[in-house]
Amino acid sequence: MRSVHVCIGCAALYLPPEDMTYPSLGLTASPAHCTEPGCAAAVREAVAFSGLPEDKLGELARRAVGLEGQPRRPRPRQRPARGRRAAAAPGGGRGKLR
Ligand SMILES: [Zn+2]
Repeated sequence: MRSVHVCIGCAALYLPPEDMTYPSLGLTASPAHCTEPGCAAAVREAVAFSGLPEDKLGELARRAVGLEGQPRRPRPRQRPARGRRAAAAPGGGRGKLR
């Protein structure tokens, strides 16, 4: 299955071919950056800096934007227990300084 990738350099989403090559261009797709030369350089730096391989960085980026792993859901709101007063609104209540 083709998977959408996210570029670490410019945050663009891209969809490389399944075999990760562009035969007509003689290029290989990277799991971590798009085809912009600046992005390739940014990822080389990120690899050198983090010590992680390119495909791992790409996976982390996909996870960070929610393309891989569990879908991100907002946390359910905390409900007060039955019979208890609801939590105070932010900024509510009185303080000595006001
Ligand atoms: Zn890019």
